[in-house]
Amino acid sequence: MPQAEKKLSEKWLWYTSRTPRGVPLDPRAYPSAVFDREVIPWPDWACKAPDGGVHIDARIGAIDVHLAKAPSSRDEISWTRGFQVRLVSSEWLAQIEDLIDGRNVARGQVFVDGRALTDWATIHEAHATRLFSDDERSKVCPICGDLYAVLYGKTFFVDPAVQGRRLIVTSNGIFVREDEAIRRRLRTPAGAYKPSLVGLRRGGPTAQ
Ligand SMILES: [Zn+2]
Repeated sequence: MPQAEKKLSEKWLWYTSRTPRGVPLDPRAYPSAVFDREVIPWPDWACKAPDGGVHIDARIGAIDVHLAKAPSSRDEISWTRGFQVRLVSSEWLAQIEDLIDGRNVARGQVFVDGRALTDWATIHEAHATRLFSDDERSKVCPICGDLYAVLYGKTFFVDPAVQGRRLIVTSNGIFVREDEAIRRRLRTPAGAYKPSLVGLRRGGPTAQ
């Protein structure tokens, strides 16, 4: 079955920001909450698990963000300090715009001083899958279903639903299927790590 063979070799290029410090959210644009004795902006797309962990509500698709300042113009990929919303330059995103269906992966707007920045966008996926690794610590938020993991070693997907998908966005990064990236001559966004290849491990995390 050639189709099955093709699926077996499915791999995704993993794009994620190298920037160690994300861009702060604009505290004036959000109500505030206390977390770890620190006052932080509390957007309406935020969720707090019973154990205290704060994260993006996994049920939310498109996310608009208000930033205290624009991301560095040297970068084409970045993230928000607080909740780690993925920020991408519109120019880079234009290369894969047709893969954003608004159903799985959704695009949101970026605002600074109440004005929309047209050269940046957010990209996010509701109920996203996550990466797995051989050795990891993970948990699931009982409120929204957010999947959180600290990964060690080789990483892979285990959710068979990723099969056939050309664009996947998780809390770990942006994943573009290898054949699509090659076909489009997709360049690595400025400010990203050199992308590594991630595959699907059939049979779950413990399968070989
Ligand atoms: Zn949650």
